[in-house]
Amino acid sequence: MNGTDGIDGTDGTRRTVVVGAGAAGLGAARLLADAGRDVVVLEARDRVGGRVHTDRTWEGVPVDLGASWIHGVRGNPLTELRDRFQVPTAVTDLDSLLVHDPSGTPVPGDEQARMRAHAEEIIDRFDRDGSLPAAARWTDTHRRGVRYFLWQHFENEFGAGPRELSHRWYSDAVFAGEQEIVPGGYDQLFRPLSAGLDIRFGQDVTHISHDGTGVTVHTARGTELPCSDVIVTVPLGVLRGGGLSFSPDLPPAKREALDRLAMGTLSKTWLRFPRVFWDDAVLTHAYLGTEDDAWSEWYSFARVHDGAPVLLSLNGGPAGRAIEALSDRDIAGRATAVLRRWFGDAAETPVALQNSRWTQDPYALGSYSITPPGASPEDRDTLAAPIAGRIHFAGEATHSTCHQTVHGALLSGRRAARAVMAGSRRAAGAAAVGS
Ligand SMILES: Cc1cc2nc3c(=O)[nH]c(=O)nc-3n(C[C@H](O)[C@H](O)[C@H](O)COP(=O)(O)OP(=O)(O)OC[C@H]3O[C@@H](n4cnc5c(N)ncnc54)[C@H](O)[C@@H]3O)c2cc1C
Repeated sequence: MNGTDGIDGTDGTRRTVVVGAGAAGLGAARLLADAGRDVVVLEARDRVGGRVHTDRTWEGVPVDLGASWIHGVRGNPLTELRDRFQVPTAVTDLDSLLVHDPSGTPVPGDEQARMRAHAEEIIDRFDRDGSLPAAARWTDTHRRGVRYFLWQHFENEFGAGPRELSHRWYSDAVFAGEQEIVPGGYDQLFRPLSAGLDIRFGQDVTHISHDGTGVTVHTARGTELPCSDVIVTVPLGVLRGGGLSFSPDLPPAKREALDRLAMGTLSKTWLRFPRVFWDDAVLTHAYLGTEDDAWSEWYSFARVHDGAPVLLSLNGGPAGRAIEALSDRDIAGRATAVLRRWFGDAAETPVALQNSRWTQDPYALGSYSITPPGASPEDRDTLAAPIAGRIHFAGEATHSTCHQTVHGALLSGRRAARAVMAGSRRAAGAAAVGS
């Protein structure tokens, strides 16, 4: 062995290595460890959670740069974590929406409903046959409103424009019940889940080799970790284009599935102001006066954080990718220009800003997976399929219905852990028969 960082010197014949300490990796490792298995987690970053990431540099306002919502609490495995770790959550009313016309005047509720209904008709048609109305310049307020609801549905929900998405498969599965956020930070669900696990940070896994007898996991530090099985939970972006290779190489079917699937973008921009200058009784605000669709969706987090003057803007798809390539200063300039147009002189200049930049992050390379035209849920099943009964795959992209969610990631990790345990039982049975 070249290096032995934290390696216990055993031959790894009964050890499972989990690559990645996000929701999938922690879900897998917890199940294996609780079943008494020898499990080591290798994580490239210096923290757990992956795309669940709470920044605590703003006093009194934990900022979630990755996931914020538990999408439906009924039957959701995250609800079980919420209850087990007694994490306070808040129900959000996602229908609490105020649409503002280009002059900043609130659009009456009945017209808002007509805009939404018009957008839903277009979405229904897209779902049926993939057709979309011609890309006319929609300038009147009604059409701007329709465009906002379409943008919210495609770019901000799925991280890609409708032309980048398969109209047959783009819908994801969420649970029934309330949509909840975690005011104290989403990582409160995962830090306790990681307690007591053998997690080795700063371990960038670069290569995984296997033969008939076992697996060796190689890291950028030159460490080689032998094991009986590995569960790979790195994001789709890293599998597609990151520095992780396999020998033998991934089977052609898996490579083809990787090529068909893609990563989408949801860019989060959190802005903190000297004071609240918007209607903080409403959670979601849509502003119809932007040049393109960017900077039209805003959330007020003031009520969530005891009146703290904080807004979140979501920008998905190509606009989100463009924003993530800008400096903080330029992002603040663009956001402020929109707020000035909307609120006039009442708009304050932000005192602080945070942008998520998952597209620039080498251990994510995008926000979450999407299903482009030509791809299908079968590609996700192909991605999830184990190799030689020893190399297992988990992560949101490998869940055929709940991809792009935290619960999908968690469930996929547990599925892979069960497959590892079932494989060991089969091997033990075969050994007993052969003995
Ligand atoms: C902006 C944004 C908002 C979102 N909002 C929501 C939401 O509100 N609700 C929801 O349910 N979902 C949401 N999601 C999706 C959700 O966050 C993800 O689906 C989920 O967290 C993915 O978990 P995972 O374990 O599959 O991957 P990750 O969390 O990315 O975990 C993979 C881990 O592997 C590590 N890694 C990568 N490469 C290597 C390597 N070479 N060696 C070692 N380790 C490596 C990474 O550092 C990471 O820790 C959002 C995502 C984003 C980006």
